[in-house]
Amino acid sequence: MKIVTELPGPKAREIIARDERVVSPSLIYVYPLVVKRASGCTVEDVDGNVFLDCQAGVATASTGHCHPKVAQAIREQAETLIHICGTDFHYPGYGALAEKLQELAGKRLGGEGWQTFLTNSGTEGVEAAIKIARHHTRRSHLIAFRGGFHGRSLGALSLTASKIKYRKHFGPLLPGVHHAEYGNLSSIERDLFPRTVSPEEVAAIVVEPVLGEGGYIVPSREFLAGLRALCDKHGILLVFDEVQSGMGRTGKMFAAEHFGVVPDVIVLAKGLASGMPLGAMMAQKRFMTWPSGSHGSTCGGNPVCIAAALATIDLMENELVHNAATVGAHLMDRLRTGLKGVPGVQEVRGLGLMIGIEMATHEKADAVAQACYRRGLLVLECGDKAIRMSPPLVITRAEADEAAAVFIDVCKKA
Ligand code: PLP
Repeated sequence: MKIVTELPGPKAREIIARDERVVSPSLIYVYPLVVKRASGCTVEDVDGNVFLDCQAGVATASTGHCHPKVAQAIREQAETLIHICGTDFHYPGYGALAEKLQELAGKRLGGEGWQTFLTNSGTEGVEAAIKIARHHTRRSHLIAFRGGFHGRSLGALSLTASKIKYRKHFGPLLPGVHHAEYGNLSSIERDLFPRTVSPEEVAAIVVEPVLGEGGYIVPSREFLAGLRALCDKHGILLVFDEVQSGMGRTGKMFAAEHFGVVPDVIVLAKGLASGMPLGAMMAQKRFMTWPSGSHGSTCGGNPVCIAAALATIDLMENELVHNAATVGAHLMDRLRTGLKGVPGVQEVRGLGLMIGIEMATHEKADAVAQACYRRGLLVLECGDKAIRMSPPLVITRAEADEAAAVFIDVCKKA
């Protein structure tokens, strides 16, 4: 971390002024960071300020920024085949990645013969999950959870219920979507089923096994196991949206592994290809009953993104999932110890490198995130009043110590 100009610096201000004229005002820009280059956990802005990245491009630069092995895989693939359209033609990468995901899910979760549909994003992965559930069950209703985030296209947005700004003025959304209370099984059993929707009309329950945008909340094993039992009882598909929690982030390849619950469908994206646009909707073979032509995507499963994903998974299996578990535990411990009794800090929680720090108020959370940025530490808010730490999985203990020290100091002063 090294801040050498006022923030934003002069070059950053110029770029921001241009963007304000030409870029959609719907984008968020949590703080005025204008990035020039990044490597590992280090981000450099256009004015030469150096930041320690504890948000990883919203939990996505999983192997660290521009990991040499990922960059090499992208380079080599870009010189061989950039695009041919995986919906219409075969190429080696698509099946190679699907085979790898089948092996990972089978080995780590169980379930039978996982098959994969590749997309360009998490949102599209969620759309594919909605479609396969409806197609397979011939039912239309869906259950999701308050606090959940599943994307912004109209189908995925109908499931999203984390903040009203995502939904306001975009309706009417998909009919037949019901929201239950996250972590509370009886909200489905005692409220939705007897009053709002009959279980035999429900195609899928879509849930984040660890709540991401909604606050980095780890549910009880009973909650997820209870959803599994409900789905089994009523012939409903259980969809785990692991777009944020998957690919090693929680210290296991899939967050589902922490709970010993096997979903029917898994959606992955974000960390899957280290920041290249790639998502995956994986379902156990018996649910893959949709016929040829029923779903597809022009660029989904693009060869270059797949090359990045294969290199990413290789790095994860060799070292990074383990690193996320050990450095994550260390960072959490540091934060818990250092933040004990600090006014305005309520809780430190999470799994692996998916760490949430609950503040007393939204204003405090905002002040902490902004102050961290000014000190050279990049973190993001989540939920109503929490900060999330989701660094690249390559983060070292020394970097974690540095991040914790700045974060604790900022919390004490904010
Ligand atoms: N699902 C979850 C759990 C997410 O966190 C996100 C994005 O933050 C999405 C879906 C949407 O993914 P994408 O932005 O890649 O479309």
